[in-house]
Amino acid sequence: MDFRNAWHRDTDEEVCCIACGDTVARSNAREYDKYGDRWNRDDKSFEYLCKPCYREYCHFGRTGLEDRLEAAGAGTVRRDVFLRRYHDLADETEQTRADGR
Ligand SMILES: [Zn+2]
Repeated sequence: MDFRNAWHRDTDEEVCCIACGDTVARSNAREYDKYGDRWNRDDKSFEYLCKPCYREYCHFGRTGLEDRLEAAGAGTVRRDVFLRRYHDLADETEQTRADGR
């Protein structure tokens, strides 16, 4: 570590991938903002995904994510039920995505 302030040197900072827990250089990570708004940076701390996880995550668009979580019963049904429902909804989204964005 040199004597410049490491906190202000983004390229050397390490971040933790929220999906797999790997530590990666921030410059190699992808910012993940659960609100889907990476441009409004006020009062925010971003979470990070490593590139492999980001690629997996990207299979589904973020559009409608909250609706899908809601429809799948997030927080109101048992976890296994929720996951099955969510998976079905995600499948539908994948199939119909062509007419979306
Ligand atoms: Zn990861």
